This record gives sequence, C-alpha cells and structure tokens, in this order.
Amino acid sequence: MFPFVFFIFCFSKGITQDLIRVRNNLSQLCSPEFNGRGYVKKGDSLASAWIAQEFENIGLQKFQNSYFQNFNTSINTFPKEVSCSLDGKKLVLGKDFIVGADSPSAFGRAKVIFLDTLLFSDKNRRIQFFNQDFRKKAFVFPIHWTKKLAELNPTEIEKLEQAALWVSLHNKLTASVSTKQGKLPEIQVLQSAWKPNTKQITYKIRSKFIEKYPTRNVIGYLKGTIHSDTFVVFTAHYDHLGSMGNIYFPGANDNASGITMLLELAHYYKQKPSKYSVAFIAFAAEEAGLIGSQFYTQNPLFPLLQIKVLFNLDLVGTGDEGITVVNGVVFEKDFEILQKINEKYQLLPKIVKRGKAANSDHYFFSEKGVKAFFIYTLGGIKAYHDIDDKAETLPLTKYTEVFKLITEYIKICE
Ligand SMILES: [Zn+2]
Repeated sequence: MFPFVFFIFCFSKGITQDLIRVRNNLSQLCSPEFNGRGYVKKGDSLASAWIAQEFENIGLQKFQNSYFQNFNTSINTFPKEVSCSLDGKKLVLGKDFIVGADSPSAFGRAKVIFLDTLLFSDKNRRIQFFNQDFRKKAFVFPIHWTKKLAELNPTEIEKLEQAALWVSLHNKLTASVSTKQGKLPEIQVLQSAWKPNTKQITYKIRSKFIEKYPTRNVIGYLKGTIHSDTFVVFTAHYDHLGSMGNIYFPGANDNASGITMLLELAHYYKQKPSKYSVAFIAFAAEEAGLIGSQFYTQNPLFPLLQIKVLFNLDLVGTGDEGITVVNGVVFEKDFEILQKINEKYQLLPKIVKRGKAANSDHYFFSEKGVKAFFIYTLGGIKAYHDIDDKAETLPLTKYTEVFKLITEYIKICE
C-alpha cells in the first residue's frame, strides 16, 4: 500500500521519514481511545499526553520544565444520548443527522412546519406562513435559505424562534464545536435522509456546557547548533471535534495528518540538527476558534520576534491537486522560493498562494508580525468534520513531497 520504493528513493540519504510510523501514529491519534481528541471523556488530555510522550521519546527539550501549556476554554458538549426520529423512523447519528454545535438540551415530539419559500415573493403566503403557531413545533428549512431567513423582519424572526426545534437540511453534514450554548435547539439533517411530507419529529438532545474546561498546548524544541536564539517553528493542532452521543469524529486529515508530520519533522531535526533552534507546537482548541494558538501568542515561551519562520500544518493528508500556502501573497519572496523548490524536485502538481486568512493556527502569529505560513493539501477526499475522516481512508498522497518542500525551504533559510 505504501509508496515505499519512492520513499527509499527520495530519502535514501539517511533522512528519516517513515511512512509506517506515520500510519501507526495516525491510527493512534484517530483511535476510539482518544475519542475524537475533544472534550468528552478527556479525549484532548489523552491525546496531548501521548504527544508529550512522543516528544520525550524523540528527545525534544522542554520550556520551563514541561511540555504543556495549560489554559481553560468554555465549551458546549454532547456526552450523553442524542436521538432523532422522523414519523417514528429512527435516524442514524453521524450519518443522517448531527446536533448544532451550540444547541442546548431539548427533548420531545414536535409537528413539522416546513419553510414555505414562496413567502419571500408572495405577500399573502408570507402572512399565511407567519399566522401559524410555532410554539412546540419543529421549524424545518434547507440550509441555503439561511441568508434569506436572516433578512426577515425582527417580529418574523422572533416567531420562528418560538419553535421548539430548528431542523436545517444539508447536502453534507459538517460538524463543529462551540464555546457557547445558544437558546435554540438545532438538529442538522442530511437532505437525502429527510422524507418530504414528514409530519412529526421526535428528538432528544442532552448537552453539557462547561464554563472552564482545562486543556493544554504541547510544546518542545531542539536547540540550534549556532543561532540558538533564533527559532524555526512548526505547528499543528491536535484537537478535533470530540464525540457526540455514541459517535466520535476521528479527525484523520483534520488534523492527525498535521500532528504526524510535526512528529516526523521532530525526528528529522533531531537527527539532522539545524543551526537555528526548532520548536514544535501541538495546539489545543483550534476547532473551538484558534483558542490554543491565540493563548500561546499572548503567552509565548520565547519572544515571538525571535521566530525566523513558522509553518502551520493543518489538513495535509491529500495533495492530488497540490497545496495552498496561506500568507503566500503576503510573503511573496518566500512563496517564490517554495515554487522554485517545487519545480526543481517536481513535488506537487501546483502550489496556490493565498492572502491572509484566520482559518488556522498561523493566524495570530502573522498578526503579531511573525512570518507564518499555513499549508494545506488539495483534492483527494471529501471527508471533513464528519465521521468519515478516518485514518484508514486518508491517502497521504503527497505527504512525503510536502515534507520535502518544507525541509528544503528551511535548508535555504539556513
Ligand atoms: Zn477542523
């Protein structure tokens, strides 16, 4: 299965990047034991303890005698049973439906009021629609009407919010986590699992809001041989969405892929010391809104301005269509170096540059003046924030090539 011949060819000069080890680490990070690396059954604590142990095994040094940087976050969780039936037919959690991230607890049986989209063009239909009693009802709408719904007047919106439950219909289920608990219970149903003319929904959502959930970043480093005050930094978030009722989100591409590459880079620089110090940071609570990396940039363990360059790895498990480099537009010269390396070694079909984006853990670093890039791979799989983002189906198509691109770039920096 593994492109082992290629691996030997590419890294025959003693450069370690062991794809069998990568596969093992991926399986470990995505295993039920870590429960989706989130906020139920201490998934994040178990995953971060495992990463710290790996740092120790590799021989990384600690800042202030610990690999951990602790902080708290608020978080809304679904540790107990979640269920939903349409006219008595049970839907499958994760496959047919999920719960909205900020949903409060709710249970009951509700008659369906389906959005009449003609209300947006027909005045009478609008009056008719809002003349209904929404209390104790389930308001059902296809998600692409959200923008139109937001344009309704406040009284109309208030009416909709009287419903006992909101049900949005989606072509793909994409879960998330929230640091807040809202007032409206929400279920997201896959469009194909929704039967038109459904009359009644039975639902049970049990959520638990945790005000101060303790979590932690994991940080280690290797001391540079010459300029040890200057740092090359690699980052990747280890947290994912955790679990919901009896299912969990494995988060293979997002972002066990980045963590495995972070570990491979640590192995590499341990064997091949850099003249700069190299720091490795596995961030927590990225999915909750870049909270771990924001906390780190507010409480850095060495001055941020001593960072020569930072590469953040998030979603690096494919690559059929190349990669995107966020901040490639901001740091044009460095982007050109990456392109030249790519041309020289024929690594990726394309490298796309992108401007500033608050979409992963590089963001608060570049906002503070650090030259920080975020690399993610393109193409390959559609699984994202769902139960199908599994280790066994993650292709790792251009994994060794992305690794090579980064390490070659650092060589040029030196
Ligand atoms: Zn994510």
